[in-house]
Amino acid sequence: MIYAVIGDIHSNYDALTAVVNEIKKEHVDKILCIGDIVGYAAEPAKCIDLVRELNCTVVAGNHDYATVGKFPVEYFHQDARTAVLWTAEQLSAESLIFLKNLPLVEGLNGITLVHASLKHPEFFDYITTVATAQNSFEMLKTPVCFYGHTHVPLAIFCNKETMHVDRGQVFDLNNADNVLINVGSVGQPRDWDMRAACAIYDTEKKVVRIKRVKYNINDAVGKIYAAGLPSVNALRLKEYAI
Ligand code: ZN
Repeated sequence: MIYAVIGDIHSNYDALTAVVNEIKKEHVDKILCIGDIVGYAAEPAKCIDLVRELNCTVVAGNHDYATVGKFPVEYFHQDARTAVLWTAEQLSAESLIFLKNLPLVEGLNGITLVHASLKHPEFFDYITTVATAQNSFEMLKTPVCFYGHTHVPLAIFCNKETMHVDRGQVFDLNNADNVLINVGSVGQPRDWDMRAACAIYDTEKKVVRIKRVKYNINDAVGKIYAAGLPSVNALRLKEYAI
């Protein structure tokens, strides 16, 4: 099987369509989504519709849950909070129900999907290091777990008692017992590479490849300004700044 794994789309439809076009060239059997379909940018409804159309297996991100009142919006900084509240007003009842019904964790074919971490997925803790990955490995029941949330692609390998972080673009899973793979962000990369990110997993070769895709950033930026959303949400697409 060839899987594409996408996530942290954050209402950036320009980035999502560019990624989907590239995925189609990879002869992918199934698309998996690690959540945060909405938030920050200007086209939440179109992003949800496309994810549903593609029949993706999806888990919830914190922005998805915040939009439907399942995660406290008070935990968000002002610019994210403004976008969450704005997003809730843009969506149809059907789209809101779709977000509300997303599970926190999914498992299929030796793969686990979660947005942030496995220990308490509802808390949306960040996995950035070996230390922060430890309790997720304790919960992991499959060889491979895809996640996101930090918007920075990387893999954390756990072989017997040793763990290490790999910040490369190609991850060979042939000698790996367990691995957590952050697939990066479609709609708002935070690793100083402005291109959209996703992962391609070939289960026969046991290789995961991070793919970067150019898209029309200026169009996405223009839509964020036109919607009256916080300008920092637009500026972040051009140059990542906290
Ligand atoms: Zn996110």
